[in-house]
Parts: sequence; C-alpha cells; structure tokens
Amino acid sequence: MYIVFLGAPGAGKGTQAARIAKELVAEHIATGDLFRQAIEAGNDLGKKVNKYMVKGALVPDEITVGLIMERLAVLAQTRAIFDGFPRNLEQAKALDGALDKQNKAIDRVVYIRVAEDELVRRLSKRWICRNCQTPYGPDIPSRDGNRCDRCDGQLYQRPDDQPETVRKRLKVYFSETAPLIEYYRQQEKLLEVDGSGSVDSVANNIISALGERQFIAQ
Ligand code: AMP
Repeated sequence: MYIVFLGAPGAGKGTQAARIAKELVAEHIATGDLFRQAIEAGNDLGKKVNKYMVKGALVPDEITVGLIMERLAVLAQTRAIFDGFPRNLEQAKALDGALDKQNKAIDRVVYIRVAEDELVRRLSKRWICRNCQTPYGPDIPSRDGNRCDRCDGQLYQRPDDQPETVRKRLKVYFSETAPLIEYYRQQEKLLEVDGSGSVDSVANNIISALGERQFIAQ
C-alpha cells in the first residue's frame, strides 16, 4: 500500500506521517528530511539542494524525482508513506508513472487541512531534532526543551522557518502543491482530515479515514 501525505508546511504532515508509518509498519519517505540529512552530512546532494531550501523554493524535479526513484528501488517494506512528495503535478505524474511500471499505484492520499494563520503560528515556533528530524513546538514540547525525547539529538530552528521564508513556502505551496488536492480527488483517492486538533486526535482521524485500524498492533 502506498499513501501520500499532502498538506501545507506546518499542517503536521511530518509528525503524522512518522507516527502512522510506525503504526502501519510502513516505510516513511520524507524528501525534506532526506535533504536536511544530506545538508547536515555536507555531501553533494546537500550542497545542491541547500540554495533552494534556504530560499523556501522547491528543489528542481530532476533531483527530487531521482531521489524518490532511488528509494523506490530499495524499498524494504510493502507499504510506504510519502511525506512532502509529490510537491507539484510533474512529480505526481512521475510517481504515478514509476509505480505503474511496477504494476503498483498510490492507494490513498491523506490531505491534512489547517487554516493559514494556524500554519504560521506553528511554523514560527517549531524546533526540530538535528539528528532524527522529529519536530517539536508549543503543542508538542520536548521534555528537556533543547534535546530530542526520542534520540537526545540537539533541537534547532530550521532556517526556512524564519517568517519571510515561511511566507514564500506558503506561496509555493498554494501555487504548486495545492493543485494536487484536485488531482487526487479526481482519482478518488483523497481523504480529507481536519488537522487542527491535538496530535493524538488527528492521528486517530487519519487511521479511521484510512480504514486501517485492523492492521494496528493492539
Ligand atoms: P519539508 O520538510 O517537506 O517542509 O521540505 C523542506 C524544503 O525541502 C522545501 O521547502 C523544499 O525546498 C524542499 N523539498 C522537500 N520536498 C520537496 C519536493 N518534493 N520537491 C521539491 N522540493 C522539496
């Protein structure tokens, strides 16, 4: 089963995708996390993508789609959750095409809907783990304040969570990514979930919408 998580920056895609991937024993493929890890590692990919990310622009499709194709080729699980990919119609079509060649397809698309002023509030107060990318914020505080509950990594504020870059990322989201809502609605794959509640209640709603409760370890 292949699931796409769609939503604006700050909608809680990363938090929910990581959680649902764990519960469904699915591979969590987050392009933003992969890019940030490459930047931290200082490798060629990191050097290529950094200049786009700091501006809040999308990384060119050839780099992003190439990265996803590499991951698809070595998928360890029969289920995968795509988080932050696809980000535009070209990427969505490239993903559909690649899966089609393997007689597979995206099964469902979870669209997490959150009002714009709430997105800005969340992003301006978001801190993430430098090591495992777990996000924290006013609604999901870390126990220590400076270190990650999960791996004890150092927390930092993403450079692209600065107010000006946040505005740019939201603009990019509405012009490039939001049209995917219609694209997947027309394919009758879209599941719309209200993302304004607590992490637990949103996760609960996603599991119900997916109709996958039977797969979750009791
Ligand atoms: P995210 O962690 O999903 O918010 O992504 C952070 C940044 O990584 C984005 O603002 C883009 O610069 C880049 N990025 C992540 N996923 C993609 C994608 N699918 N296509 C292009 N750029 C991406």
